[in-house]
Amino acid sequence: MSVLNRVVRYGYVPFMLLGLNGAAYWIVSQGYHYGWLALLLLVAFALAFAAEQIAPWFDDWNDPHHDDPANIAHAIVYEASNITGVLMIPLIVWMFPVNGIWPTQWPLIGQLLMAILIADFAFMFVHWMSHKYPVLWRLHAVHHGVDRLYGFNGLVRHPLHQTLDMVVATLPLVLLGMPVQVAVLLGFAVSIQLIVQHSNVAAALGPFRNVMSIGQIHHLHHVNWGKEGDCNFGLFLTLWDRIFGTFHPQPPRPITASDMGIDEVPHFPKSYLEQLIFPFIYKPGQGEPERYQPKTTAANIARQAHEAQDTQSKVPGAAE
Ligand SMILES: [Zn+2]
Repeated sequence: MSVLNRVVRYGYVPFMLLGLNGAAYWIVSQGYHYGWLALLLLVAFALAFAAEQIAPWFDDWNDPHHDDPANIAHAIVYEASNITGVLMIPLIVWMFPVNGIWPTQWPLIGQLLMAILIADFAFMFVHWMSHKYPVLWRLHAVHHGVDRLYGFNGLVRHPLHQTLDMVVATLPLVLLGMPVQVAVLLGFAVSIQLIVQHSNVAAALGPFRNVMSIGQIHHLHHVNWGKEGDCNFGLFLTLWDRIFGTFHPQPPRPITASDMGIDEVPHFPKSYLEQLIFPFIYKPGQGEPERYQPKTTAANIARQAHEAQDTQSKVPGAAE
């Protein structure tokens, strides 16, 4: 194993989670412009893509899957919604005057850790509901349509599902009086977590393997094995999954590179606009919508007939 490979395996996750969130914390606590966080986010993506090349979990997940344009669009829309959410905080506070429950006297780090812990529960709860109820699954399925995991896939969300996430997970915190500073850091931490959770990096997690909702814990959540991936719903920690009995540390069989996706929609659309309308076309439990099935062209039919003839002529006695 090369030195670089070792650095990535052991250093990637600590640097992304502690280093980048630490840098964001410093920017926000020192009163620098929040615009620097955008630069940090670009650094996070660059590091994730570099680490995936150096120490990939599966080589196949680094191959082009023709999903980059849609995923870039998802990343832009995701972050634009995040920013809009933060900008709306003063308006929400004005509409619902805050009653001072939030412990603003705590150090900023304490407020942030509390926000992460509470939001992790809310995200996990919405996520669990999104796998349980078909109306929500239609929206969340856009995230599960991906047939590989890599840095960009964490931000692949239907905007309606992202809005639901924000309303359930962060609105209550805002109504309790969470300051804008904490909201900005929480939003940044969620983005970094989504990148780490989905990046194709063979990180050595040691004793944290079953503590954090990343790596193999999250791979199992994305398998296309019917209901077997309906577990490990957490975003940050496995804590809430353990409490709710949905924590499965080991897959029932080894996971391969081609096990990602939705079993009943093997031809998940690759275009961003198609993914936006997907929830309104897909009917859970009724198989793949015709719209996504490969077209049966005249040339395809002729080729299939030719192949069938070939097979027949190879069967002993079939020629007679
Ligand atoms: Zn899910």
